Amino acid sequence: MTNSVKKGTLFVISGPSGVGKGTLVSMLREKHPEIKLSVSATTRNPRPGEINGTHYFFLTKEDFKNRIELGEFLEWAEFSGNLYGTNKNFVEKMLKDGQNIILEIEVQGALQVKNKLKDVILIFIEPPSFEELKERLIKRCTETEEEIQKRLAIVKKELEQKHEFNYVMINDNLDTALQNLKTIILREIDGIKNK
Ligand code: 5GP
Repeated sequence: MTNSVKKGTLFVISGPSGVGKGTLVSMLREKHPEIKLSVSATTRNPRPGEINGTHYFFLTKEDFKNRIELGEFLEWAEFSGNLYGTNKNFVEKMLKDGQNIILEIEVQGALQVKNKLKDVILIFIEPPSFEELKERLIKRCTETEEEIQKRLAIVKKELEQKHEFNYVMINDNLDTALQNLKTIILREIDGIKNK
């Protein structure tokens, strides 16, 4: 007897820090909780309110590096002085069980996933402008001035990679961007237009 469970679809949502990836993904998942989100590991310190195992798995650098050696990550990258990575077993199991899953990760990691897996839908979210992105990073008050500068310094390089993605969309108006993201994802899952 053959295993008839249809494999899930893997979505990678990427783009510069502050572009609104996290907001869009959580809004999408409020309406579509059946679409799973992979919880990444990171060596950065938790921000106030962040819960271990919910927002990230917060690891020491040593622990993270051991896990790299053990081959636990589907992809990992250094971003702004910290390490971030996606658990390979979790993603493989979800897909095998027929679950659709989202990775919300930065650009280097997204391109690693593209090189490793052929069945992946990559979505790049870009800001309306560099100035707007800067404003958003300042307004969200989660980073220091120095940290914001570090994140802004790599935006140009990140934007240069957008042609590697299957879809590029702008997050100008949040409602419109959410609608666009939802349309892309549901269409890819079901093959049905404008569900
Ligand atoms: P933050 O420190 O703002 O939570 O995340 C910094 C950047 O790392 C964001 O662009 C976020 O999407 C990305 N990121 C989060 N988890 C992962 C991961 O598992 N792998 C990679 N490559 N990037 C990640």
